Amino acid sequence: MKIFDNHVHLTSSSLDFFVKRFTKEGGTSINLVNLTESCFSLDEFSKKYDETISLGKRLRDKGLEVVVSIGPYPVNYIEMKEKIGIEKTMDIYRKALDLAIKLIEEGSANAIGEVGRPHFETSVENMEESNSIMDYIFQMTADKDIPVILHTESLDSIGMCELMKKAKRNGKNSLVVKHFSSPIFSENCEIVPSVPAGRSNARAAPWGKAGFFLETDFAGDENNPNFVLPADSVPKRVTMLIQEGVGQDRIEVSMNFYREFYRLD
Ligand SMILES: [Zn+2]
Repeated sequence: MKIFDNHVHLTSSSLDFFVKRFTKEGGTSINLVNLTESCFSLDEFSKKYDETISLGKRLRDKGLEVVVSIGPYPVNYIEMKEKIGIEKTMDIYRKALDLAIKLIEEGSANAIGEVGRPHFETSVENMEESNSIMDYIFQMTADKDIPVILHTESLDSIGMCELMKKAKRNGKNSLVVKHFSSPIFSENCEIVPSVPAGRSNARAAPWGKAGFFLETDFAGDENNPNFVLPADSVPKRVTMLIQEGVGQDRIEVSMNFYREFYRLD
């Protein structure tokens, strides 16, 4: 059975630790998302993309199935703008996005992520500028069948629908994921919720249906093993659900959704 974690951050030093924990409990597949929070130039973004792509290869060599997501993290926008101004920063973000799309079209990566806007209260200007970068992302991926994984403030049903409306206004009608989503499995206007793999979220999910993901947002290592959630959370939740009587065939229908979503078949 395939067991997929839709949001994992790894470095060359945390990779072995993660793989050991994840596969021991039955994990098979992950979305490896780049961490570009310390990038402040196009060159730095580019290096992170390459690093993430090569980590993906190392993971595949170890037997994992890997989706690779690359793109400019939305939070460093604020600091970058203070250093070099709005125009240059916007330009770097757009170019970083263009480069990510190019790498995806060449087949080196699979999705754009995590991109979006700050998850905390910030100025109206910062939000507007981040929103305009998001518009650009939706426009540039609209006709290309490229999934987009969004990092935003926490959203309720209405917020998810507003975000999807924004995507649609820019021509992007599907393939949009809300990372670290609340367990809003319906009435989300078909934004795909990727929910943290805690027990209650796993129990609340509509097993047997496609259209959602579980994730850990793992960003730890041996010394910090449970950050954000432990590496083996998704496979452990699957084991828990089976023990609680959820049919394996129903879990499989939901778990296998990533194959279609990321165009792996
Ligand atoms: Zn993340």
